[in-house]
Amino acid sequence: MFRADLHCHSYYSDGTLSPEALIHLAKSLGLSGLSITDHDTIAAYKEAIPAAKAAGILLGAGVEFSCTFEKMSVHILGYDFDLNAPEITSFCSKHKERRYLRNRRILKKLAAIKFPIEETELEALENTGKVIGRPHIAELMVAKGYVKNSKEAFERYIGDGRIAYDSTESFSVEESIAVIHAAHGKAFVAHPHLLVGGWIHRLLDLPFDGIECYYARCQPDQIKRWLKVAQKKQLLVSGGSDFHGGSKPGITLGVSWVDETLFHQIFQRSL
Ligand code: AMP
Ligand code: ZN
Ligand code: FE
Ligand code: FE
Repeated sequence: MFRADLHCHSYYSDGTLSPEALIHLAKSLGLSGLSITDHDTIAAYKEAIPAAKAAGILLGAGVEFSCTFEKMSVHILGYDFDLNAPEITSFCSKHKERRYLRNRRILKKLAAIKFPIEETELEALENTGKVIGRPHIAELMVAKGYVKNSKEAFERYIGDGRIAYDSTESFSVEESIAVIHAAHGKAFVAHPHLLVGGWIHRLLDLPFDGIECYYARCQPDQIKRWLKVAQKKQLLVSGGSDFHGGSKPGITLGVSWVDETLFHQIFQRSL
């Protein structure tokens, strides 16, 4: 049976596996297709494309952009865009710059509450070419013994609205959708069940192409609800596990997926 997991992270963002290891895992689990959707980077594709070809896995271009809508944090999935489009590569560079400044603001806030982390420690991570964000800062806090695990780091210090959180806005959802469209891709609302509030209706009025209705931690009634919304708005439907490897244990690659029809509705571009 054809199954394609369209949401997972490699170690180019906050996952633990290399792109190649993700492809091999997908193969060993009997998946037919995959899209690697790292946060704000497409770096995984250089290695993922030859690995997928060798393994006979259908690979679709993907990315998960961190965005802001009415001051709320929203994740947008981009699919089937041209990986070489300058709009995408320059947008990823802009995110890198944004995160560089934001990570330092978080470090400053942590230092103020007597949890110092040297900038050089951050630089060492950034120099690997990976997208560095709060999950990595949480790991540094664990390594230093400031917290017992990264859950505690988020809940007490760096989670949304906490004392060392940086609330500076990311790029807008509108801009992110425009970038994906300029690169001939499709923009999807990621894990919609996490969005709560009246503002969702305004969000859904933006020119999205689809909704991620099938998601590992989404309850069946929620899935039904979002499938209905997608149908009513004539939007495409995607699905994936949001697998991160060891950094988010409990989620297996392939637990959420799309079938062959949905896969080909989303992906027309072969890599
Ligand atoms: P960033 O993109 O740097 O803002 O980090 C966001 C990432 O941090 C998310 O994709 C999650 O993987 C992780 N994250 C956010 N909130 C929490 C939380 N409360 N507990 C654990 N991880 C979280
Ligand atoms: Zn993540
Ligand atoms: Fe997300
Ligand atoms: Fe994700």
